[in-house]
Amino acid sequence: MRVNENFRELPENYLFAEIARKVADWEVRHPAERLIRLGIGDVTRPIPCAVKTAMLRAVEEMGDPQRFRGYGSEQGYSFLRETICRKDYLARGISLSEDEIFISDGIKSDCGTILELFGKDNIIAICNPVYPAYLDAAAICGRAGEYNPAAGGWTKLHYLPCVEENGFFPSLPTGRADLVYLCFPNNPTGAAATKDYLAQWVEWANRTDAVLLFDGAYERFIADPALPHSIFEIDDAKTCAIEFRSFSKTAGFTGLRCGYTVIPKALQRCGMSLHGMWKRRLSARSNGVSYIVQRGAEAVYSDEGEKQVQESIDYYMENAAVICRELRKSGFVVYGGKNAPYVWARRGEAMDSWRLFELLLNECGIVTTPGAGFGTQGEGYLRLTAFGDRKATAQALGRLEKLFH
Ligand SMILES: *Cc1c(COP(=O)(O)O)cnc(C)c1O
Repeated sequence: MRVNENFRELPENYLFAEIARKVADWEVRHPAERLIRLGIGDVTRPIPCAVKTAMLRAVEEMGDPQRFRGYGSEQGYSFLRETICRKDYLARGISLSEDEIFISDGIKSDCGTILELFGKDNIIAICNPVYPAYLDAAAICGRAGEYNPAAGGWTKLHYLPCVEENGFFPSLPTGRADLVYLCFPNNPTGAAATKDYLAQWVEWANRTDAVLLFDGAYERFIADPALPHSIFEIDDAKTCAIEFRSFSKTAGFTGLRCGYTVIPKALQRCGMSLHGMWKRRLSARSNGVSYIVQRGAEAVYSDEGEKQVQESIDYYMENAAVICRELRKSGFVVYGGKNAPYVWARRGEAMDSWRLFELLLNECGIVTTPGAGFGTQGEGYLRLTAFGDRKATAQALGRLEKLFH
C-alpha cells in the first residue's frame, strides 16, 4: 500500500489559518469592538433577482413529473452554452462553437484538473505572487518537484515574478515552460492586461508549442473599454490557449457553483485534440452541473440579469475606488482597484507583510491579507478586497487615516 507521496511535500495552507488565528486572538482581546474585514475573497451581495427567479422556476420543473430532468449532458446544457457563446464571445467578435464551451461547477477545480491532459514532465510556469490553487494542483499531481522554501519554492516550477518593475506583468519565460498559468485581471495584484501584452504570450506559446491556461474569473470587472475580456480576442490564441471563466465573482455564484472552460477545437498538441481529450475526461469524471444552477447562470445574461450584475459590480468597484483613494491619503503606494476588485498596496517605507497586517489589525481592527501569503514576491504588500459592505469599508479607512496621521 502506498499513498500519493506528493501530499507529504504539500505545505499546510498557512495563510488563511494564520489569519484566522490572529483574528480570533484579536476578538478575545477586543470583545466590544467590531472587526472590519477587507481581506475576504468572497462576494457579499446576494445573487441577482433574475437568477433567483429562474432557479425557482427550475425547481418547480424538477418537482413536476412531466418536466423533471435527470442526468444532463456532462458538458452542460445547450441553452447555457449557446448563450455564453453569443453573449460572452460573439458579442466581442470571437466566434466559437457552443461545444467548445464546457460548463463546470466553478473553475477552481478545472484550473487544477486541466493538468490531467498533459504529460508529467512538462514544466509549469506560475506567477509570483499567485492565486494559490494553481500551485497546489501542480504539487498534488507531482508536477511541482520538491518544496524548498530556501531555494525559492517548488524546485520544478518556473516562477514568473510579478513586481513593481514590470508593472505586475510577468516577462516571457527565459527557459523552457510548457504550461503557463495567467490570470487577468489578476488576483492578488489587480493588474489587467492589454491586448498587446497578451499578444506577446500568444505569439510565444504558438512558437514554442506551449499552452496558456488563462484564468478570466474577473473579466466582468474590467471598466476600461480598450482592455480585452478574453484571451481569444488575440489573433491565433485558439491554437495555444484554454480559458477559464466563473460566475462566482461576477454574479455572486460562490455558493451556487458554476463556471466554464473554453477549449477550442483548433488546440492540438502531439497530434491530439485537447478539446477531445477534455470531453472524454469529463464523461469519465463528471455528471455535469445542476440543472437549476445552469438555469440560474443562463439568467445572468437576461436583460434584467445583466443590469443587476452590473449594479453589484458597480457597488464593488466604488468600494475599490474608495479604498485606493483613502490608502493613498494615508501614505500607501497603491496598485489595482481599477479593473479588478483587488487592491495591492504597500507602505512608502518598506514594512513586511505580516507586520503591516498586524499593525492594521491591532490598531484599527481591520483584517487584510498579507501579500507574502501569495508568494515571495508579495512580501511588503497587503491585498485588500472591494467585496465588503460600503459603510464598513469607509469606516475601516477612517480608522486607517487616524493611524497614519
Ligand atoms: C475566485 C477565483 C476563482 C473562482 O473559482 P470558482 O471555483 O469558480 O469559484 C478562480 N480563479 C481566481 C484567480 C479566483 O480568485
